[in-house]
Order: sequence, then structure tokens, then C-alpha cells
Amino acid sequence: MVAALAAAVLASGCGPTGGDGGQEAERWVGAGFRFSAYGPGRDPGAEYWLRVGQEMAARFDGAVPETIWIVSRLHGDGTELNFPAQPASPLITAAQDDHNQAALELFDRHGFRVWLQVEPGHAPVEELIHLVLERYGSHPSVVGFGIDVEWYQSTERPEGKPVTDAEAAAWLAAIRSHDPSYRLFLKHWEATKLPPTLRDGLLFIDDSQILPSLDAMVAEFAEWGRSFAPAPVAFQFGYPSDRPWWRQLADPPRDIGQAILAAVPNAAGLYWVDFTVLDVFPPGPETGFVPPGAASPANGYDPTPRPIVGVKIYDFEGDLGTLFAEWKELGITTVFASVELAAREGFRELAKSAGIELYVIFPVLYAPEELAEDPGLYAVTADGRPAKDDWVQFACPSREEFRQRRADQAVELVRRLRPDGLSLDFIRHFVFWEMVAPDDDPAGLPDACYCPHCLRRFAATLDRASGLPVDDPAAAAAWIRANAAEEWIRFKQETISALAWQIIQATKAVRSHLRVNLHVVPWRTGDFDGAIGRIAGQDRAALGRIADYLSPMCYSHMLYRPPEWIASVVRDVAEAGDCPVLPSIQVAPAYREETLSVEELEACLRAALEPPSAGVVFWEWDAIATDPDKAAVIRKVLHEPR
Ligand SMILES: [Zn+2]
Repeated sequence: MVAALAAAVLASGCGPTGGDGGQEAERWVGAGFRFSAYGPGRDPGAEYWLRVGQEMAARFDGAVPETIWIVSRLHGDGTELNFPAQPASPLITAAQDDHNQAALELFDRHGFRVWLQVEPGHAPVEELIHLVLERYGSHPSVVGFGIDVEWYQSTERPEGKPVTDAEAAAWLAAIRSHDPSYRLFLKHWEATKLPPTLRDGLLFIDDSQILPSLDAMVAEFAEWGRSFAPAPVAFQFGYPSDRPWWRQLADPPRDIGQAILAAVPNAAGLYWVDFTVLDVFPPGPETGFVPPGAASPANGYDPTPRPIVGVKIYDFEGDLGTLFAEWKELGITTVFASVELAAREGFRELAKSAGIELYVIFPVLYAPEELAEDPGLYAVTADGRPAKDDWVQFACPSREEFRQRRADQAVELVRRLRPDGLSLDFIRHFVFWEMVAPDDDPAGLPDACYCPHCLRRFAATLDRASGLPVDDPAAAAAWIRANAAEEWIRFKQETISALAWQIIQATKAVRSHLRVNLHVVPWRTGDFDGAIGRIAGQDRAALGRIADYLSPMCYSHMLYRPPEWIASVVRDVAEAGDCPVLPSIQVAPAYREETLSVEELEACLRAALEPPSAGVVFWEWDAIATDPDKAAVIRKVLHEPR
């Protein structure tokens, strides 16, 4: 089915299509990549791109290597070409050197099809067409010209001005004055941004991202295909924001591409995006390109064979320059900072110049300030009490207004601080897990939230809810235990997973390279009668699909566990979550008097780094800064070859 579709000859889009089926012409599915000068931090070179196009095309029967090659990017109100030119419009600037010629010559020789794309801003599109095609139109590989409509007059209208039929027709005419066989592509993720009726000579590209799953992507792309059928459509995929699900596919470019071809009969182009291309098509030694470990997640590339070494820090009064120098010397790669500290003047600039990534810690349902203002927001336990145990004070996870407020706050801080990552803390149900000892009675753990909001929402999910007393927590808990225990656990987990998704998709929508680290309670699957799901409501399989890392808080000393327990938690989370796991460990004692020795810390650190761990996060910096012996042992372990 898939092979037959891929090899099927598709409607040309050149000239009149004459009705539903369109003409059959010689045009095969193109498969390749999107290239821009702002993709990988360093360009691995034309030979590398040749290989990517060939390897991508080889995944689909009869496919031809094809690329979207971006030759201008938004610059001020206009655009900047990546080749020398003498533009008439002041909104067009040009580069000193040519960044395209060598690659195009190579593509000519290897039967590629190349689309040359611009991001116009307010620059006159027809002048851009002539500048680009006068320079590169002689290349036999060039088949057309493309416009990313997201950036068409985008400084006045976010997400671009919709393109009318008349505009598209004029652009197509300008393009075809260079070669009558050329075509025009228009790219966006909203069909309403593209010409309402003009179809001939056009290719419609969807670059939607931040989707929850492959199925969701295919459904959205199929809708796109139907919107423009029988005209050809094409798709960009492989964005960092979708990595949490596509990294789990056996062969992401093939699996995604084949699913699209099976669902979208008029699909004519499949392009892996350059933001993660190095991850999926690793550069060979011939490129002289930096080995994977040295690439930066800033370009979406993070296979990280080197461990992430993080440190949590909440406040700091001293000199920031000294602080970053100490971290650098110790081997810290990533700082997990409070919002307040990350916002401190100079903090982000120093992190950047030290090459240390910044994750901002964002507490979700721990809400002491909001609860002081509005006690009605408290989660409610099964015995009808507010969810408060010492400093641990939890909001109800079901209130729409509160959920939205948290998502808005997360978006605001991501916009303002532009961090590399967000570290979601307290995204679970109420429990003071730090105080739960290995032999504690699982039945004694607090169960929440039994507030009327949660109970009404839960009742709505049941088809036999008439007996559920929604205004009496204790009676409701008894009824649920007797009638709907499994459904309750599922409901608790879905409440948390949906909240995580709401925050993650909202923040990745404003910063698609953002990484999300999600803190999980350090309970293994069977611990305390399945308390990780039953009490904390953390469904690690679901959370692992939407977060980039799950981070169990493996504070062994306070939990009366031996160091090797840390490795067992990491393995359990990795298996349950099927995603990278980044354990955090404690450096100094908390909640108990006994010392945490240097030897114990070393054993904990070694256990935390055991496979399949993605690294370690120290909780917290102050405990290292004030104990030179512990700093020394950390330095020793981190500087060992691994
Ligand atoms: Zn509630």
C-alpha cells in the first residue's frame, strides 16, 4: 500500500489539472530536507546535504531527492539574501559571499530537485524572485521558488499576512518568466493563510509542529491534504518540539514519511527539518564536523553521549562571574535555577558565555502564595482536609482558571528569559514524599484531590456516577474505593498528564527548541502499592511522551535508601517512561540528623551516572559550595574518562 502510493504518479500541478483526478504527469514524490543557514550551528557542507537527500529519498520507493533550500531570512522589516546581489529595495540586503553555488552544482549532478525559498517580511516578493532566479535559474536542479508565508509582512501581523489568489498568480507569473516549468510553493500551518482558490502551479507545504503524537500529526496533515486536493501538498517534520514522540520511532524519517504517504494521497514532498538533521542523519568523519557530543541543543541536536551535569540553585547573593567560573571548573554543563535567580542581571549572559545551559525551575501545583490568597484553591484529601503538610501546600489540579494561569506564567517566563529549558516541578498530586520511609504503610499515604470540582469532573467520566457524593470527601472516597478504584487512579493521572501537556505545548509554541525536564517522585513501579500512579498521579509513560527528560528526585539519604537504589529508580523510570532520565541527587542531609559522608556522596553520584542515565543534577549548589571535600569528589568523578 505504502510503496504503491509512494511510487504512484501524482497530479502535476503544472498547467490545468482538469478536474478531480488531475492529469497524470511525470512527477514523483520528492523526499529530502529543509536547509537554512540558521539550522545546525555549523554547516557540515554540501557533501553532507547530498547524502541526507539521498538517504531520505532511499526510504521511499521511487522517491527523488528534494530540498527546500532557504536563501533569505527575515532581517528587520525586510530580508537578507545569503548571496551577493544589488537589490533596488532598501528592505533587501545581501551577503558578501555566496552560500549556495557549491551545493547547487553538486545537486545538479545528482538529480536533485531544489526549491529556493525566501522569508520576505515586507520586502517586495517579485524583486526577490528575480534576484534569486537570475542568479540560480541556470541550475537544472532548480524546480521552483517558495515563500514561507509565516514571514510574509509578518512584522505587522503575527504569523504572516494571508496570500490572495491575485498575489500568488502574480508571483507565479514572475517565476515563470524565468522558466515556464517552474512552480511556486507557499508554506504555512494554517490553510486559511494560503490562496483560497488558485491551485495550478502551486505546491502547498504544511510545517505544523508541537503535536502530541504521530497519529495527531498524520490526522492534521491528512486534513491539509484534503484542503488543497487535488493540488499537491508537502510536509516538513522532525522539529525539536515533536522529538519526545518521534525519538521513540524505529526510523523516524521513514516511519513518519510512510504514515503520511499512506494517509495523504496528494502528498508530493517529505522534508526532514535541519534543526534536528544531525541527530537523525549523523555526519560522517569526512565532514570534519564536530562529534555529536559537542553539538548544542540550541540547534535542536542533543544525542548527548556526554552526561548532563546539572546543579539546582534557588538563590545566590555573591558574585556571578565567580559562580560560573566555579561551575565551569567543576564540570557543570547545566544550571537549574529559580525564576528569580535566572532573571538576575547578568545571569543569562554569563551562562551563555560559559557554555552552560539554563533551565528555569517552574513549580506548578505547589502554590503557597495563591493558597494564602484563596484557601478555596487547596486540594482536599480523602479525609476532607486541605492538602497541607508542613511547607508542602498543594493547589487542586482541576481548576481551569488556575491551570491556565500557570500555563500563562510559564509562557511569560519563557518569552522573557529565553531559557534553554523548563524544569517542571510539583506537577503531581499532593504528598510529602520526602517523609515517606521504605517501610511505611502504603494505605497511610494521603490521597487527593476530593474537592467538589475534582469529584464532579470525575463523575462526568463515569457512566454509573449517580451514587458518588460530590460534596462529601470522606463518603466520596469510600464510594470510589468500592466502585471505581481503577478509574480514579486513571483520572488522577490524566489530570496531571493533561496539565503537563497544556504547559509544555504552550511554552514550546513560543520557543520550539525549549527542552522540558519534568520532576518525578522517586517511587518505582511497585513501591507502596503503585503509589507513583495511585497517589502521586504521575503516569510516567504519558509524561515520558511529552517531556524531553523525566527527572526522579533520588534523594536516597533522606529516604533511608542505599546509593545503589538510585540506579534502580533510574532504570525503572527509563523503562516506564521510555525516555531519557536525568536523576537528581542530594549533596547534604535534609530531614534527618545523620551526616551524609563524602564516600556516600561519591557512591550516589556513581549510581546516578549508571546507564541508562542521561546525567545527574545536584541538589543543591549551596551544599557543594560550602563543602570543599564534596566539591573535590564531584570534580574527581566528573573528570574521569567515560
Ligand atoms: Zn480538586
